[in-house]
Amino acid sequence: MRVAVISDIHANLHGLEAVLEAVDADPPDELWCLGDLVGYGPRPNEAVEIVRERAHLCLVGNHDLGVLGRLDLDEFSPDAATVARWTQTVLLDENRAYLERLEPQAKLDPAELFHASPRDPVWEYVVSEETALAAFELTVSPLVLIGHSHVALSISLANGVLNGTVAPEGTEVALDEAGRWLLNPGSVGQPRDGDPQAAWLELDFDAGSARFRRVSYDIERTQSELRERDLPEALAERLSHGV
Ligand code: ZN
Repeated sequence: MRVAVISDIHANLHGLEAVLEAVDADPPDELWCLGDLVGYGPRPNEAVEIVRERAHLCLVGNHDLGVLGRLDLDEFSPDAATVARWTQTVLLDENRAYLERLEPQAKLDPAELFHASPRDPVWEYVVSEETALAAFELTVSPLVLIGHSHVALSISLANGVLNGTVAPEGTEVALDEAGRWLLNPGSVGQPRDGDPQAAWLELDFDAGSARFRRVSYDIERTQSELRERDLPEALAERLSHGV
């Protein structure tokens, strides 16, 4: 089975469309989404509609929960809270209903999936040795998939040794080779690892491989849409830099 994994779309329609065009060039059996469909970005309804249509599995993220009113927006950064409040005013009922049905974690052999981390599927950032080790300790599957940090990561645990690194475009991992793997595909709609291109992850369970993919998209279009809606300028600016 081949799977395309996407995460943290954040209402960035043009990033999402570019990723799906790359995915469709060699169509996988399934598409999995690790959550945060909305928030930060200008096209929440379109992002939810496309994922509703296309994803075989979708998790809910902290921004989705914030928009649904199930997380306190005071816990969000001011810009994130501003966009979450705006999203609440434009999100269509059927898209809200779709998000309401999602969970922040799932198990789908041979993987366990979490929006954020196994210890806290909604909020915890796995960006340190301690959080990565805890993620392995709290799971049993050979492969653990996480999103939330917007940083593409490839971390392995073999014979008690943790090996972790950021995973730039083109990074390939042999899933069978070394123990267990914790992978973060990076973000479709707001990458924060210095590469502004939209990120996704290609899994091939038969070949035992994972490949970190990036695709360029029309960043200026998403930036114009943010500005047209009077959403915070910093959120437009950061897209140019992938931060
Ligand atoms: Zn996110």
